[in-house]
Amino acid sequence: MKVSTMEKYILLKNKLPEWINMITPTYTIFAPVKEEDLVFFKPITKPSEMTLAYSNAIVPPKAQMFHQTETMFTFTQGKNIRVNPASLPDEKIVVFGIRPCDAKSLSIIDPVFTNDFEDPYYLTKRKNAILVGLSCNQPTVNCFCTSLNGSPASPEHLDILLTDIGDKYYVELNSEKGKQLVEKTKKLFTPATDADSKKKKDVEKKAVDAITRQMKINNVDAFVKKLDTIFDAPYWKTIAMKCLGCGACTYLCPTCHCFDIQDETTLDKGARIRVWDSCMRPEYTLHASGHNPRPERMNRVRNRVYHKYNYYPKNHQMIACVGCGRCIDNCPVNIDIIDVITKAGEVKP
Ligand code: SF4
Ligand code: SF4
Repeated sequence: MKVSTMEKYILLKNKLPEWINMITPTYTIFAPVKEEDLVFFKPITKPSEMTLAYSNAIVPPKAQMFHQTETMFTFTQGKNIRVNPASLPDEKIVVFGIRPCDAKSLSIIDPVFTNDFEDPYYLTKRKNAILVGLSCNQPTVNCFCTSLNGSPASPEHLDILLTDIGDKYYVELNSEKGKQLVEKTKKLFTPATDADSKKKKDVEKKAVDAITRQMKINNVDAFVKKLDTIFDAPYWKTIAMKCLGCGACTYLCPTCHCFDIQDETTLDKGARIRVWDSCMRPEYTLHASGHNPRPERMNRVRNRVYHKYNYYPKNHQMIACVGCGRCIDNCPVNIDIIDVITKAGEVKP
């Protein structure tokens, strides 16, 4: 639940390890951990395991709520058929150091798991999680959250936001959950002053100014409608000619949420398992009859764009992209969603 007035505090940087140590007995802390040149959100047992000097995690922290592979239930078959529901995790987690764009992505995918059917697997983990964000002081070359009404220092979808303002963190408490987490460790925090608030604003402005790439869609509603008029344009074929269909753009996207459900069985027992899926794979829409409504790569490339920038806004009044830049950074053939969308705006109906 959001708070009506956001409380603002200061946490000295040298007190951060103490704070983490104080909350570790109650919560499993997932934090950015460096492995080789990549950063992953992983459970940590002590503050020294995490790195806060990072741009963004390669796999978005949606993976903490929506596991890449998850057992929904197990069963026995044959004479004694029995279904054993998987026990839902009751551990309380803190996702520490999550970026504002990744937190926004969770708000974007929430309706998928709540609107028509309440998905207990996702919801249990989501409800048990506290999101402690870290402002993105140094956006990367492909960050473009500001093109989609985001900000590198927005507390909007977070329980708590920390902003590095020098030798201390500016701490914004944006929900009851966030307040409760700080309440138990209050002795480490002091109220922020007006000078601290100004420093945070300055840091945010500097970060916003450092975002050099912009997706040039002046009016989001008009662009959503524009896509309706260019569905059959040859433009999509030219984009698809480069695509390898590897699916990296979807697996690593914080708003992609498609999954497949499979049974893994032996003669007398089995498990029903949910796994991430990708609309960039031809099997994704393959019917049992052999018919495939998206037979060509062009159909799949176009679908990825339309799902994020046309179908999702129509269904949920939100663009399903937060401008994190992961799909650009990791596409092996440099397909660039900023260019794809900007140029789509110029295609004649
Ligand atoms: S489409 Fe690309 S830029 Fe947008 S949220 Fe997904 S990975 Fe990030
Ligand atoms: S990452 Fe690039 S090559 Fe791979 S499926 Fe996505 S757009 Fe195609």
